[in-house]
Amino acid sequence: MKSLAVVWKRNPVLGACPSCKSLNTLKRSHSRNTKEKLINRLGFYHTFRCRSCGWRGYLSTFSFTLHSLKALLMYAAIIAFAVIITYQVIVRIF
Ligand SMILES: [Zn+2]
Repeated sequence: MKSLAVVWKRNPVLGACPSCKSLNTLKRSHSRNTKEKLINRLGFYHTFRCRSCGWRGYLSTFSFTLHSLKALLMYAAIIAFAVIITYQVIVRIF
C-alpha cells in the first residue's frame, strides 16, 4: 500500500552540496548560537557543513514531492466530500 504521507523525511548528507555540487561531502554541523539551536530543535532544518568547499548553511530534512501534492489533493477531496454530506444532512433536518 502506498504511503499517504505529505512530506518525506530525507537525509541531505546523501545529497549534493548547494555550493560546489560535490556528493557525500556534507556533514551535520553543531549549532553555534541560540538561533541555530532553536532551528535545529524544530527538526525541519539542520546546519550542515561541506568538507570540500567549506560551505555552511541550513538544509531542510523534509522534501515536498509530486506524490505529496497528490496526497494533499486527496485529503482536500475527502474534506470537501465530508462538508457536502454534512451540509446535505443539515439541510434535510431543518
Ligand atoms: Zn561544497
